Amino acid sequence: MVLESLGGRITGALRKMTNSTVIDEEALKEMLKEIAHALLEADVNIKSVVELRKNVTNRVNLEELAAGVNKRKLIQKAVFDELCSMLDPGTKPVQMKRGKPNVVMFVGLQGNGKTTSCVKYAYYHQRKGWKACLVCADTFRAGAFDQLKQSATKAKVPFYGSYTETDPVKIAADGVDRFRNEGYDLIIVDTSGRHKQEDSLFAEMEQMAQAVDPNDIIFVMDSAIGQAAHDQAQAFKSKVKVGSVIITKLDGHAKGGGALSAVSATESPITFIGTGEHIDEFEPFNTQNFVGRLLGMGDVSGLVNTIKEAGLHENVEMVKRITEGIFTLRDMYDQFDSLAKLGPLNKVMGMLPGMSEMMQNAKGVDGSVRIKRFQHIMDSMTVDEMENPKMNFTQSRKERIARGCGRHPQEVEELLMEYKRFSKVVGKVGKMSKKNMNIDQLSRNTSQTFQ
Ligand code: GDP
Repeated sequence: MVLESLGGRITGALRKMTNSTVIDEEALKEMLKEIAHALLEADVNIKSVVELRKNVTNRVNLEELAAGVNKRKLIQKAVFDELCSMLDPGTKPVQMKRGKPNVVMFVGLQGNGKTTSCVKYAYYHQRKGWKACLVCADTFRAGAFDQLKQSATKAKVPFYGSYTETDPVKIAADGVDRFRNEGYDLIIVDTSGRHKQEDSLFAEMEQMAQAVDPNDIIFVMDSAIGQAAHDQAQAFKSKVKVGSVIITKLDGHAKGGGALSAVSATESPITFIGTGEHIDEFEPFNTQNFVGRLLGMGDVSGLVNTIKEAGLHENVEMVKRITEGIFTLRDMYDQFDSLAKLGPLNKVMGMLPGMSEMMQNAKGVDGSVRIKRFQHIMDSMTVDEMENPKMNFTQSRKERIARGCGRHPQEVEELLMEYKRFSKVVGKVGKMSKKNMNIDQLSRNTSQTFQ
């Protein structure tokens, strides 16, 4: 899961507070201190962390709260909202109109994943019915055109570039003109990577923006950039009209907080995140769903999208059951199977309510190994044990199951505990669905999942 350890630590701090006998100023302070440490370690800039701490404290005035007010819910909601506002600059993504030539220019530092993201972006939109194409205006890096050509060919996206022309502005203008005339409605321009100190490259970027007059300029930022993110983002924003941000490599870095929180410097929303090198390891970004996932609350809408995109219709049934709150050990087993089909387990896990926590609980054991082990244990259960949610798992029953699969009874116990915790969350999602809450409300309603 994206930023797994950060999410785990924040959830841990919240849980510790909710489990304490009295929730007073001291407990709140302690929890905020722990959350602040976790955010700083993930490289979120200090100003944002101080702000988050101050805002939660101001919102939750424990002394003034009337008796009967659920302090836990209030605090959890405040933390959730503040994390969302840290990631949300309050601006809307640029809207593009189908059937007209929309030009999107990608900018960013070299090596941050710009070219990869251009192709992913083209591929994503092409699958949604856009007539997408790519222009390679990176003449600075040797092999840039070949790289784009190769991945564009693989993705079956038309491309334009030149081995002989050395002026990137001319290539961009020619490529855009050509695709405009050919009726493409999404023309993506990849540019050279540049650094804020490289004045001439920055001037060239401005010229290119003037020449192609883009509808949107996307700033691509590597999640590993850490504290430098803010200054870099600001430098790009001050030269060209950045309208959206893509954060890449969120699969590999615990330090992604720097890039995520730098979004305020660009005053532009994060629209996509890159979660791997592969072309479809690219996800649309929604702040509330992302924070929901970070805090182990799941991302039901993200899961539904993944299922739709993978074309696995049988899994719609699985989501239906989740949203209805029905959950037996058999469901858990089937879900593990279905999840495996959806792609790398770690990727989809965080989207299921309660699942990212299950991965967290693995304590060093790879989440997917743990899940296989759980399935192995379930293989030695009877039909009744698997399908009766009210089954009484006595000690002798647990020992029999353990013997059947050659594992320790303690591991059977562990599985049953996860099942209990997981089904509780699923039950809550079900209740919320019955109340006809939409996905955003589900995600926002943090308290439902933390209790
Ligand atoms: P550019 O110089 O900004 O165009 O960067 P590239 O697109 O060439 O990417 C640099 C490296 O980062 C390549 O090895 C990519 O495969 C890798 N990369 C890009 N996006 C991601 C991502 O989301 N996850 C991971 N793990 N690697 C990525």
